[in-house]
Amino acid sequence: MTDVSRVLDVADKGLEQSLDRLFDLVRIPSISTDPAYKADCRRTAERIVADLTRLGFSASLRDTPGHPMVVAHFEPKAAQGKVPHFLFYGHYDVQPPDPLDKWTTPPFEPEKRTGKDGVVRLYGRGTADDKGQLMTFVEAMRAWIEATGTLPIKATILIEGEEESGSPSLVPFLKENKAELTCDAAFVCDTSMWDAKTPAITTRLRGMVKDEITISGPRIDLHSGAYGGPAANPIRILSKLLSKLHDKNGKVTIPGFYEGVGEVPKEIKQQWQKLKFSDRKFLKEVGLSVPAGEKGKGVLEQIWARPTAEVNGIWGGYTGAGTKTVIPSQAHAKLTFRLVGKQKPEKILKAFRAFAKAEVPKDCRIEFASYGSGSPASEIAETSPLIRKSAKALKDEFGRETALVGSGGSIPIVRYFKDVLGMDSVLIGFGLNDDALHSPNEKYNLSSFHKGIRSWVRVLDAVGR
Ligand SMILES: [Zn+2]
Repeated sequence: MTDVSRVLDVADKGLEQSLDRLFDLVRIPSISTDPAYKADCRRTAERIVADLTRLGFSASLRDTPGHPMVVAHFEPKAAQGKVPHFLFYGHYDVQPPDPLDKWTTPPFEPEKRTGKDGVVRLYGRGTADDKGQLMTFVEAMRAWIEATGTLPIKATILIEGEEESGSPSLVPFLKENKAELTCDAAFVCDTSMWDAKTPAITTRLRGMVKDEITISGPRIDLHSGAYGGPAANPIRILSKLLSKLHDKNGKVTIPGFYEGVGEVPKEIKQQWQKLKFSDRKFLKEVGLSVPAGEKGKGVLEQIWARPTAEVNGIWGGYTGAGTKTVIPSQAHAKLTFRLVGKQKPEKILKAFRAFAKAEVPKDCRIEFASYGSGSPASEIAETSPLIRKSAKALKDEFGRETALVGSGGSIPIVRYFKDVLGMDSVLIGFGLNDDALHSPNEKYNLSSFHKGIRSWVRVLDAVGR
């Protein structure tokens, strides 16, 4: 028997105990946003520390101004040469369970139920987000250690307790413990599969930069009869400016906007096509039917691999009941730009501002509000050895090609690991779209948990080689 099949065997035989340990964690209401549960958050962290210590990790609870962190290290025995060192991230805190009356069984009394469809699901707050997920790699490591006495890699585990409340302590903690936490790369387990049968690795997350503009014209609001004609109207100037942001093919017209935007490799495009994603269904769900955005690009490419310029809000003049014959003195708009590839947020902001200024006539003014410097996209090359090895390991478990997917939004932890620790993140998770994260009756499929553990057993082996 190879190491991996021995370890998988141990993981399978120990599944019931793995479930017990998960349920023990779910029973503690570690709601990070509500101060009433502060002691429960701490108790959850202590339990994880105790468990990892028993496993042979040097584990500790680290106090922060908020809820404590769990940090644990494992030195593999008899490491031949240099083994890679990876960080594994999850969070033990959960969202409040309200509304309680919508739960079929109490949120902190986890239950395994078989549905009419024959699918076994684990119900309870945190079963999916993120206790069930983080336990997939913990249980995989346990199986490795039980079967072989060691791990095929050097491992550091970081479990935080403030993810659901915006991670206020995380960046300072990463900075203070930079040397201890910096690894070759991070594995983050807080994302989903493509569907119940298809594993996924998220390799592309868009960045973002925000801006707000105010165009000022006349000193005061004017009578549109007395001044209509000669007086510049800031709303007209603003709407003309905004209408020029895109051309008839949906491309952004700001000069230099597409600098650093690469084409999606053919191989990846083909893979996305094979996912059989329905653009029509996607739009129909939100009451639309006509695809907007860049012509010739499908929905997946648009949200995973293309940048955008969006107007989020626009206001000015009289918007109350009835009418008012006025030429307003000011008009405003809020904008966001989603970024991909090597687009630099500060350059995009500069280019947009130059573009906007050029649209404003001489006796009007434009001002910009500052919303920080934004963040670039986080992308990890689909061809990188770490992605290839992880994707192959997941394929071996599921018997299906691993989908290398993107996410239109951002996942802050990935940015923090990159900015503070200089590490890339590999996002592997086993959640499903219907897990009801943050909602009543949150669940994690038993198959997500079981195959998740088995997947990590294989990933650890693959990336250790
Ligand atoms: Zn989460």
